[in-house]
Amino acid sequence: MKTTISTEWLSGCSGCHVALVDLHEKLLNLMDSVEFVRIPILMDEKGYPPADVGIIEGAIRSEHDREAAIALRKSVKTLIAFGTCAVYGGPSGIGWLYPPETILNSVYRNGPTTASGESLDATLPQLEQSVVPVNEVVTVDLHLPGCPPHPSWIATALGALHDPERHTLEQKTVCSQCERSMKKQTGVSLQTGQVHASDDELCFLSQGIVCLGSVTMERCQSPCPNRGIACAGCAGPSFDIIVEPHLDIRTMVARRMHMLTGIDQAEIDAYMEQEAKTYYAYTLASPVIYNKPGVKMKTWAAPEATGSP
Ligand code: SF4
Ligand code: SF4
Ligand code: SF4
Repeated sequence: MKTTISTEWLSGCSGCHVALVDLHEKLLNLMDSVEFVRIPILMDEKGYPPADVGIIEGAIRSEHDREAAIALRKSVKTLIAFGTCAVYGGPSGIGWLYPPETILNSVYRNGPTTASGESLDATLPQLEQSVVPVNEVVTVDLHLPGCPPHPSWIATALGALHDPERHTLEQKTVCSQCERSMKKQTGVSLQTGQVHASDDELCFLSQGIVCLGSVTMERCQSPCPNRGIACAGCAGPSFDIIVEPHLDIRTMVARRMHMLTGIDQAEIDAYMEQEAKTYYAYTLASPVIYNKPGVKMKTWAAPEATGSP
């Protein structure tokens, strides 16, 4: 008997659903064992038919998102939070830093391409006070971060639901698939604002460039560092950061770069705090991160909103 799957998209970019379609012929193979009863990227379905598995993309940002998440949860036996927005808030999580009125004023009412003071259609679903990951609203059975998760991980996750003995979701970091080597270097200084490096074989950290690969769960096959760009951490934190309250993205990267280059750890810490909107871009709305001791996310990322210096 086929496993039935029902999907929904909330506040995200639809990229996670596109990744599902990107399974290409694997999707056809999968169709031997699964049946999509609801998948908005491929079919028009307004209701929530009963299904074995629910796949949900995007964060909870509006009243509509909340209602949709609850309705999907009620209609499925197992729910997968699919993609970094669903698991940690993702890029949509930037809205966690500001009150809804501030966002509406700057983006819509007084935006550069909208008429000044234009009022919003009152019939539209209202923004909630904040943006939260899906598991803050409904119970999630499996978290599959990634922006989007690589198709191979999607196939593995769906396979694991069907045959958990044969398919395991490993918890390695992006470094595990990176071809660069970490080596101690001397005479290196912190390269602020850099994502490219002169040496294609040496770890970015060894060259004084912040790379989040060592603190990021591998759900992508590490394309960025292998093609010359430092990892931005789009799949969210590594397993040790998730389970250990005292471990954080900034402190772990700063410590590792300090050990490789001798650059003052406090200098790296201060730089990453100053650029928190970049280095926590995918996770800042997640309590997994903002509840850590020593993480002052709103002070770092939006001092203008908090009144901090
Ligand atoms: S996780 Fe990334 S790809 Fe998926 S919806 Fe969010 S922004 Fe888009
Ligand atoms: S920190 Fe970045 S560059 Fe260094 S090994 Fe890990 S992924 Fe590769
Ligand atoms: S930014 Fe990092 S986690 Fe995201 S796709 Fe690139 S290597 Fe993977």
